[in-house]
Amino acid sequence: MQDDARRQRLPAIEQLLQTPAAHRLIERHGRDMATEALRGSVAAARAELAAGKDAVADTEALVRTAGEWLAALHAHSLKPVFNLTGTVLHTNLGRAPLPEEALEAVVAVSRGASNLEFDLETGKRGDRDDHLEDWLVRLTGAEAATVVNNNAAAVLLTLNSLGAGREVPVSRGELVEIGGSFRVPEIMARAGVRLREIGTTNRTHRKDFAVAIGPETALLMKVHQSNYKIEGFTKEVPQRELAALAHEHGLPFIEDLGSGSLIDMSQFGLPHEPTPREAIAAGADVVTFSGDKLLGGPQAGIIVGRKDLIARIKQNPMKRALRCDKMTIAALSVILRLYADVPRLRERLPSLRLLTRSREEIAFLAGGIAPRVSEALAGMFEVAVVECASQIGSGALPTDLLPSAGLALTPLAGGSVNALSAALRRLPKPVIGRIQAGQVLLDLRCLIDAAGFSEQLPLLRNVLDTGKTA
Ligand SMILES: *Cc1c(COP(=O)(O)O)cnc(C)c1O
Repeated sequence: MQDDARRQRLPAIEQLLQTPAAHRLIERHGRDMATEALRGSVAAARAELAAGKDAVADTEALVRTAGEWLAALHAHSLKPVFNLTGTVLHTNLGRAPLPEEALEAVVAVSRGASNLEFDLETGKRGDRDDHLEDWLVRLTGAEAATVVNNNAAAVLLTLNSLGAGREVPVSRGELVEIGGSFRVPEIMARAGVRLREIGTTNRTHRKDFAVAIGPETALLMKVHQSNYKIEGFTKEVPQRELAALAHEHGLPFIEDLGSGSLIDMSQFGLPHEPTPREAIAAGADVVTFSGDKLLGGPQAGIIVGRKDLIARIKQNPMKRALRCDKMTIAALSVILRLYADVPRLRERLPSLRLLTRSREEIAFLAGGIAPRVSEALAGMFEVAVVECASQIGSGALPTDLLPSAGLALTPLAGGSVNALSAALRRLPKPVIGRIQAGQVLLDLRCLIDAAGFSEQLPLLRNVLDTGKTA
């Protein structure tokens, strides 16, 4: 009886909607959303009463709860973060940062109509690849090019177009997994080609391929091992030999470079990654690589190679399903043009700037920030400027480390590295570091907006104390 009486005391939705606070919710979110939120608040209060809680849900509290729910619902899940993990091309953090001029191009073509597939000369239908092909040909030495959504799609489409229903021999040393979801044997199966495993994990010879080639063989393929390396008693067939063998049998030779890099990165002091130009020169008929790994552009999969093979790839209906959006094409066309001027590339391509930042520059930055971080965490964590090592990321060898610097945050009595990591992730622009040897390590290689980073430090202690998002 008493419960019923209390339940009846919960205000009606109509009544709540009349309050000035609810009017503000309606103004912001619309009447339907405000009503839904208030219903939710009242239902939650009713459930609490039913559970025997003695909470009195007054009008003000009910509207406040509704407002919080609406704010959380409207908050963007996808948002910028500070990547202080030390991995520059971090797949989970969106890989390559784009330069302003690429962003401007994206905005310009997204705001209204564009000539995405319209030939302004003839007034007839055009091809979206036309905006990129000339530059890709120029930068790789290939005859033709096409672009899809990512490199996984590029490999899938190439295999399906050139090998569906037939056999593709691949060295056992190259049946790699690149990050959870790209595994060469699985992509091959989905592309409809039959994988024929060649050689052994550590050694594959030319003759292993030679005896495997038969009437069922569609093409030969080489996959860049990207994120792992076999050392010791090893042997792989060089791309030039494999290409020659394929051509002796009238078969195409395709190469998945993974990251690839349009230019030789060793001129910037970075490890050498095979370039599409080298692969084409060594006899590859089709080469696939990513747009957002070392190339430093938007997510895309680039396919370059022989004109007749690219034409077959473009005719595959799967191409339509895997094509990229105008925003990608706009950004990529800006990035490709930057490669025309290699001496200025470092200052214009953000990913390259980050990858080539010197330890001295990063340590200087760390020294400037350390006192602010120290102040924010006084009594809970000790803050020290330390040397550390960054990784290129995105399939580049994890053993090729870049000398870097950062801040090591060591817990004093009462501090916990897990709690601090969680608090850093709850800041308005979340800070993602890494936990290493009982410390939170913030590698500052990728920190550009130092002022923005420092500005939110005063919020940190409260987030740490309350566990609430700032
Ligand atoms: C990274 C990588 C891929 C997948 O590229 P995405 O752009 O991530 O789709 C495929 N093959 C190799 C060898 C890679 O390194």
